[in-house]
Amino acid sequence: MSQYHLDTLAIRTGHERTFEGEHGEPIFLTSSFVYKNAQEAADKFQGREVGNIYSRFTNPTVSMFEKRLAALDGAERAVATGSGMGAILAVMMAYLKAGDHVICSRDVFGSTVGLFERYICKFGVEVDFVDLTDLNAWQSLIRPNTKMLFIESPSNPLAVVADIQALANLAHAHDALLVVDNTFCTPVLQQPIKFGADLIVYSATKYIDGQGRALGGAVVGKHDLLEDVFGVVRTLGPSMSPFNAWVFLKGLETLRLRMNAHSQGAQQLAEWLEAHPKVTKVYYSGLPTHPGHELAKKQQQGFGGIVSFEVEGEREAAWKIIDSTQFISITGNLGDVKSTISHPATTTHGKLSPEAKEAAGIKEGLVRVSVGLEDIRDIIADLSRGLDLI
Ligand SMILES: *Cc1c(COP(=O)(O)O)cnc(C)c1O
Repeated sequence: MSQYHLDTLAIRTGHERTFEGEHGEPIFLTSSFVYKNAQEAADKFQGREVGNIYSRFTNPTVSMFEKRLAALDGAERAVATGSGMGAILAVMMAYLKAGDHVICSRDVFGSTVGLFERYICKFGVEVDFVDLTDLNAWQSLIRPNTKMLFIESPSNPLAVVADIQALANLAHAHDALLVVDNTFCTPVLQQPIKFGADLIVYSATKYIDGQGRALGGAVVGKHDLLEDVFGVVRTLGPSMSPFNAWVFLKGLETLRLRMNAHSQGAQQLAEWLEAHPKVTKVYYSGLPTHPGHELAKKQQQGFGGIVSFEVEGEREAAWKIIDSTQFISITGNLGDVKSTISHPATTTHGKLSPEAKEAAGIKEGLVRVSVGLEDIRDIIADLSRGLDLI
């Protein structure tokens, strides 16, 4: 299928019709698979014959999703997982062992920090956190036992943009892997493999579904590297449900249209906020004033749907804006057709110490909006209601 363009791949990859000749992708809601005889069972179990055995290992609907996602990323293979955290865990379990060292960018998803600090560390793996854009700091933290660099770009909630190529070069000069959490851009806005990333992880829960219905994730990359991830998933069990895989297959079909619309709405909102007298700062890489704008233009095919901004008046003002909305959902979730709004300092980043918040740039006056697909004029009106009150 690789001769086709992205929009064709998003709709046509992965579905091999069964003998029924179905037009839509079937959901194989089955935990296991049966064999004609004992010989076939033995051949499949011992790997002499390729085929499905048990849905914790492989399932035809999940395989369709994996093939389609890999095609969009220009990658050889994808392994689906039950959630985004399942994908990140599988990568850690596959490539790290006691005595290894990881360098991770500071502003990654909260549970990713928790995974490193509370769990992976129990197995004797050391982690350093570092400023996403400070290449000298990355360089100076490299040790002989550094096995992995882990980043999210653009970051959440401040939209800091990493130089993926530079970090991939640094990783490869020291025989380490570069892992990129590409949840915010999805493969239609950014394909990190083109810039040298070894592994990409996704929370499919966000834009890939796009309608807030299902949890899922995936790891994407080269075939051989992914074999280890597949081994972890099939043995330890963070596998994707076939029903969720079917939901995500539908999500991939409209992903490009949705991401373009999210990006367009976010750009309009960011420009409106930047001109608003009550707004002191806007974080959106689509704005020419954003420090990562040029890099984002080079690396991405769009700037995405997340816009954060600061107002004077600290927490009280931020909460007033949030509480004055009529339809925007107050929730920590993002990447949905429904716009969402949150106060990072007291929710997603609420567990950080005051010093850690300061270092991460999470101010009390910061508000994050995930721009949905409602009419942007209504979204702006819903936000201006609170801004007029402060
Ligand atoms: C949500 C999210 C995750 C975790 O995904 P789940 O599907 O919730 O497990 C990881 N990374 C990023 C950037 C996310 O937004």
